[in-house]
Amino acid sequence: MDKYRYLIVGGGMSGDAAVRGIRELDPDGTVGLVSAERVPPYNRPPLSKGLWKGAPLERVWRRTEELGVSLHLGRTVQVLDLRHKQVTDHTGQVYSFDRLLLATGGTPRQLPQDGVLYFRTLDDYQQLRQLAEEGRRFLVIGGGFIGSEITAALVHVGRSVTLTFLEEGVGGRLFPRGLSLFLNDYYRERGVEVLPEQSVVGVERAGGQFRVHLQSGRRVEADGVVAGLGIRPNTELASSAGLPVEDGIVVDEFLRAGHPDVFAAGDGTRFFNPVLGARLRVEHEDNANAQGRTAGRNMAGAQEAYTHLPFFYSDLFDLGYEAVGELDPRLEVVEDWQEPYRQGVVYYLRGGRVRGVLLWNVWGQVGAARQLLAEPGPHDAGGLRGRLPR
Ligand SMILES: Cc1cc2nc3c(=O)[nH]c(=O)nc-3n(C[C@H](O)[C@H](O)[C@H](O)COP(=O)(O)OP(=O)(O)OC[C@H]3O[C@@H](n4cnc5c(N)ncnc54)[C@H](O)[C@@H]3O)c2cc1C
Repeated sequence: MDKYRYLIVGGGMSGDAAVRGIRELDPDGTVGLVSAERVPPYNRPPLSKGLWKGAPLERVWRRTEELGVSLHLGRTVQVLDLRHKQVTDHTGQVYSFDRLLLATGGTPRQLPQDGVLYFRTLDDYQQLRQLAEEGRRFLVIGGGFIGSEITAALVHVGRSVTLTFLEEGVGGRLFPRGLSLFLNDYYRERGVEVLPEQSVVGVERAGGQFRVHLQSGRRVEADGVVAGLGIRPNTELASSAGLPVEDGIVVDEFLRAGHPDVFAAGDGTRFFNPVLGARLRVEHEDNANAQGRTAGRNMAGAQEAYTHLPFFYSDLFDLGYEAVGELDPRLEVVEDWQEPYRQGVVYYLRGGRVRGVLLWNVWGQVGAARQLLAEPGPHDAGGLRGRLPR
């Protein structure tokens, strides 16, 4: 049995950030990190962005191994035994801990059909890169973060792409309708065939070729099919050990997961945010880094509440944005454009209070947006236009 003062299950960005948090306070305590992936922790955002534009692969590594941590790679933890404070991986190897972090992230949602590539890991990136060497035509399913970024990446390397999704427009679950419909045209201008309001009903595969059937009756022929349909949080370990789970591992303000020595952080964690006054589960880099770090520090004896309101960002060809809070187009939306759909600020309100801010090709305003979200209001369209520089 391997014994650790600190044991981390999950080798993603939050797992790595936790090791860094631990080391800020405890340079010597033994740290073990068990990850189902066969490679050490790396940054995921470049997999759908920089790597396609020539950024070197070496830059993705987070160099966790330099922090005096034992990495157990290619190992999936299957059992969490809270009474004996130990976990067991799929090979039967047992690891004991004083403090445990569940940083298990999420697993891509899948279609019932076979043969589709779901884009989450470095392995997935390498597979798609290989497919893109061999193939010419691609179908991307899903108009959210992953689908819109992978489409741009494939176009960037000269491939022909059809993009299909359920909503009316690209990013339709985040952006106001006008912006989302503009993005359909923007993608089309870059050569993408955009098929909105479509669901996939069948995938046929013969040799290396795909024929995908959409519910409209339309058939799409492709050399590769990639889907970005969101993730489902990996909560099985927590729930089987009797820890609270509610579409995510539920933590308190110190990121404790229902047990004094068990913590959770990252995409799979549901936490309370005092600014929004709501429980959130956030699937973004800033949260993985900040929450992982706080969890690590608290594992090492700090008692710090996690009050950070994470921001997120994405790139869509040469447009880009940063955002904080709830981006839900069903809220009251106030749009303040410098140039329509090219540069501006979008405010999302509920009950006279700002719940979310989208900074569209507007940079350096995340702090000011956070402050606005903390204000009790009431706010209205007249008062908000021009409030943040656009
Ligand atoms: C292609 C891509 C692009 C992205 N771009 C952006 C972006 O531009 N901006 C942004 O804000 N965010 C972006 N994100 C999201 C961001 O990368 C995630 O929020 C972050 O990676 C989450 O880290 P995590 O450690 O919580 O979870 P994960 O990255 O899911 O890591 C979880 C780890 O736990 C391991 N694991 C799970 N269960 C077990 C088990 N039982 N035993 C052992 N190991 C286990 C997994 O194998 C994995 O290594 C992107 C994500 C992807 C996939």
